Amino acid sequence: FWEKLYLGMDFGTSGARYAIIDKEGIIHSEGKKDYPPVLSDGSIDWVQSWKTTLFSLLETIPVTLRSLITSISIDGTSATTLILDSKTGEALARPLLYNESCPDALPIVKSIAPSNHTVCSGSSTLCKLISWWTSNDLSKESAVLMHQADWLLWLLHGKIGVSDYNNALKVGYDPEVDSYPPWLKSQPYSHLLPTIQAPGTVIGTLKEDIRTTLGFPEDCVVCTGTTDSIAAFLAARATQPGKAVTSLGSTLAIKLMSTTRIDDARFGVYSHRLDDKWLVGGASNTGGAVLRQLFSDEQLEELSKQINPMEASSLDYYPLPAKGERFPIADPNMVPRLSPRPESDVAYLHGILESIARIEAKGYALLKELGATEVQQVFTAGGGSKNNKWTTIRERVLGLPVSQALQTEAAYGAALLALRATQ
Ligand code: ADP
Repeated sequence: FWEKLYLGMDFGTSGARYAIIDKEGIIHSEGKKDYPPVLSDGSIDWVQSWKTTLFSLLETIPVTLRSLITSISIDGTSATTLILDSKTGEALARPLLYNESCPDALPIVKSIAPSNHTVCSGSSTLCKLISWWTSNDLSKESAVLMHQADWLLWLLHGKIGVSDYNNALKVGYDPEVDSYPPWLKSQPYSHLLPTIQAPGTVIGTLKEDIRTTLGFPEDCVVCTGTTDSIAAFLAARATQPGKAVTSLGSTLAIKLMSTTRIDDARFGVYSHRLDDKWLVGGASNTGGAVLRQLFSDEQLEELSKQINPMEASSLDYYPLPAKGERFPIADPNMVPRLSPRPESDVAYLHGILESIARIEAKGYALLKELGATEVQQVFTAGGGSKNNKWTTIRERVLGLPVSQALQTEAAYGAALLALRATQ
């Protein structure tokens, strides 16, 4: 008896990872590949780079496991956009990365989309699409738009122009009615928009040549993916309403499962659909980057040991790495507040950690105020999650159970989508 296995791949900003799980969610293998180095002239051919990385990642999977993989899914960076010829699959322009902005298209987007819509940001997929559309004289008849994850999956299944409603949110897809909105469908470039499926649903079987060359089974399917940050949320398996994941990396990001959808552009709050629920999120500029400006990771560990987390700190800061905050307070001119600095570094760090915990609590309170399900339990990911003293401080300030997420790798979340597609 051979168990069936599920493969998830994550294409992040610096490299790609894979995770292989069984139906219980137990990891059987994990691996990582960095993207090939930048060319000597400083440029990079992302199409080639991602493709090479995809196949070399597949080749690093032990052969004995490959033959048991029955389903594959991939997540990619949100709003990373490719425009291809739907007949040949050839890229019609270089890919536009998640963080690239197309300010030329923003006025056009604002003139067609409802005000404060997610697409009304220079780096949205829709801005990228319109920027290409208005600046190109190429034949656009057979062009198709795909996100990074869709495109990588397409290399495996061969059906061009399929995406999921998480990746497609920033191109303007409405996941609530499960369709592109009329204001988008009436545009001359609407034929470029991909067909949408729910994340973690079967698109097709793995291409025969890939299957036979690499030794995957005959019934191996390829499924729709999601974005990298949603995949990382899925990894924590916090998918009941009221469960949340706080990511304490360079910045503080919170994501909460809610039965209701909330969107508020003022605070950069928007909702992604996950089946019949909503994944609501917000991101503050506070977080580990400020800590790193003041202390090394070794100092953080050493000083944290000396903190009494049951004692409330009287210091009230608003730690920011630079001017400006978006969530839970929208104020582009907000200045960081990190004084008065006490003589003791232990007291200083205690005050900072507690102040960040208050910002986190305020974030969850704001989501509730905007109409989301009330948070009941918080899992933590990122560099700050291993700080037990901070976890205890946060439990006290939030008044909720807080624990480290068991899994935080986006590749693991993508593997859960591959599993879901077969159930
Ligand atoms: P990112 O991927 O967002 O850059 P990570 O998840 O790798 O960030 O986390 C790195 C951050 O974690 C750093 O900004 C650092 O200040 C913070 N960090 C590292 N160790 C600790 C610690 N013991 N306590 C609190 N924060 C820490």
